[in-house]
Amino acid sequence: STLSALLQARAQHPQAQLIAGATDAGLWITQGLRRLQQIIDLTRVAELRRVEHYPQHIAIGAAVNLQDAFEALATDRPVIAPFGERFAGWPVRQSGTLGGNVANGSPIGDSMPLLIALGAQVVLMAWRKGKAVHRHVPLDRFYTGYRQSLLAPDEVLAWIVVPRPAPSEWLGAYKVSKRQEDDISAVCLAVQLQVDAGRITSARIGAGGVAATPARAVKTEAALIGQPWNEATLAVAQQTIQQEFSPLSDLRANADYRRSILGQLLRRAWLESTGQATVRLEDLA
Ligand SMILES: Cc1cc2nc3c(=O)[nH]c(=O)nc-3n(C[C@H](O)[C@H](O)[C@H](O)COP(=O)(O)OP(=O)(O)OC[C@H]3O[C@@H](n4cnc5c(N)ncnc54)[C@H](O)[C@@H]3O)c2cc1C
Repeated sequence: STLSALLQARAQHPQAQLIAGATDAGLWITQGLRRLQQIIDLTRVAELRRVEHYPQHIAIGAAVNLQDAFEALATDRPVIAPFGERFAGWPVRQSGTLGGNVANGSPIGDSMPLLIALGAQVVLMAWRKGKAVHRHVPLDRFYTGYRQSLLAPDEVLAWIVVPRPAPSEWLGAYKVSKRQEDDISAVCLAVQLQVDAGRITSARIGAGGVAATPARAVKTEAALIGQPWNEATLAVAQQTIQQEFSPLSDLRANADYRRSILGQLLRRAWLESTGQATVRLEDLA
């Protein structure tokens, strides 16, 4: 129930399974028929259930549930509210945690493309030589392969640190799935832009469903930065993002569809960020 007790338990039992909301891990038991010999439940660690607000960033405890985490993020960026509602359904958002989503590292996890676009960092903590130690890792460098990350066996993901928006920030966050609710993304794309006098001065793009890990579209960002935000730049960026990733075909979508959607979501970001007409399902309700 305290962070130091959790870190000490982790140091003593690095092979134990950490469990937060169990909305991923529970399925390993009910559907995968796995037996977990030892678990460490971190949902009662008070420090990890808090959202802390600072002038330059907010720090979301890893055990904050998804509903509260998306609400905290939406305070500064209202566009995140409808995006958050596309994550699973209400019961899963109440029990699943933001830390569980990020630590699980699924390439089709929904919070990571958004957090990558926002420039989030994760704070990893461990108990070493009798004291708590921590390190900050930018989320876009956290994943090392399919469901692999830099998290060491004695470490716990403690915080997700998200910079607050610059006044000129524009953000778009999109999830494409077969159902509106309680469905896994075929593609997820989050685009953060700063445009000054019609020219793109900053771009960060996070993508899900298009690689072995949640990914940052660095080549596409490079194709945008410094360019006028017009249809010609959009066309280059669309081509770049479609070449930057090699999505797989699976039951949710085939590779061509995923590649095509990447380009179309960028177009949507262009239309919305330049104030042109768009159709938003949220507005049709
Ligand atoms: C019906 C249903 C719908 C879903 N819909 C979506 C969806 O739309 N989008 C989506 O992205 N996901 C979805 N999921 C997946 C899941 O809900 C999320 O990934 C959720 O965020 C997992 O959080 P959790 O707290 O339940 O993690 P858990 O299941 O408890 O843990 C998942 C993994 O993370 C590790 N872990 C958890 N917390 C920490 C920590 N603090 N430090 C280190 N490791 C940790 C655990 O050891 C485990 O390996 C869905 C799941 C279900 C069952």
